[in-house]
Amino acid sequence: MLVRLLYASRADDSVSAETLAAILRVSKERNHDTGVTGVLCHCANSKIFMQVLEGGRGAVSALYARIARDPRHHDVVLLSYEEIGERSFSGWSMGQVSMSRLNPSLLLKYSESAVLDPYAVPGKASLALFNELVATASVTAPG
Ligand code: FAD
Repeated sequence: MLVRLLYASRADDSVSAETLAAILRVSKERNHDTGVTGVLCHCANSKIFMQVLEGGRGAVSALYARIARDPRHHDVVLLSYEEIGERSFSGWSMGQVSMSRLNPSLLLKYSESAVLDPYAVPGKASLALFNELVATASVTAPG
């Protein structure tokens, strides 16, 4: 039973490039062990996290509960949850969206302005944005 979950949150003011690297390092290791795949997007300007998680229902559910308790972010909102037949992000234990490579026109395609604000658009639109990010090679695998 595979599921896909997408959430958004607001990064704590203390989140730095080092914090992000630490989160990605732990995510890569632990997700590999539990069969979870996905992509994490962090926008330093708007201090927004968006993450898509795919894997077994139990593994994704337990991980989401753990992430939601993490003090490095707040206002965690579930944007989308669905059972799936196949993964869309199977190539990454935890890929990272490179915001510097993000084309503003891609944001404009799904929202009123070229600012990443998942709180202002439907979950479906945020998921479509993630799929395009993969298709346009904006996702990198953290070291
Ligand atoms: P421990 O490492 O034992 O930590 C105990 C508590 O302290 C937890 O509540 C933890 O969240 C918190 N904590 C840990 N490090 C710090 C720190 N440097 N500063 C402040 N608090 C801290 N983990 C994954 O395994 N996979 C993911 O895909 C994933 N994605 C994440 C995305 C985001 C946006 C964030 C903020 C965190 C993510 N994490 C992810 C990390 C996750 O929240 C846990 O910290 C991690 O899985 C370790 O869990 P643990 O129970 O062993 O906590």
